[in-house]
Amino acid sequence: MSKKRENTAFICEQCGATVKPVTNGSYRNHCPYCLYSKHLDDKPGDRKSACQGLMMPIDIVYNPKKGYQIVHQCVSCGHIRRNLVATNTIQDDHIFTFLNSRKTHTKQ
Ligand SMILES: [Zn+2]
Ligand SMILES: [Zn+2]
Repeated sequence: MSKKRENTAFICEQCGATVKPVTNGSYRNHCPYCLYSKHLDDKPGDRKSACQGLMMPIDIVYNPKKGYQIVHQCVSCGHIRRNLVATNTIQDDHIFTFLNSRKTHTKQ
């Protein structure tokens, strides 16, 4: 009962946006605009990492059980982690902006 997941507002260190807590029952761990995250956890949600590096979005993948996930890579230590895309909340993730900016040529 005392375990509270992290869901607080913060200022994005990459683009400076004010990121509000999600309202869909999950928790916010990345910026909805530039999709950057921060290396705060050793294990998801524990906030125990000493790294504190910015985590850059490098890909978006689809998991049949969990849905779309953003693949983040820490710019300081190279750690890779997946985070669920935030949807149905007050600030939906701008994943299409990200996908378009990647200019992949997988399909026309
Ligand atoms: Zn941002
Ligand atoms: Zn790191």
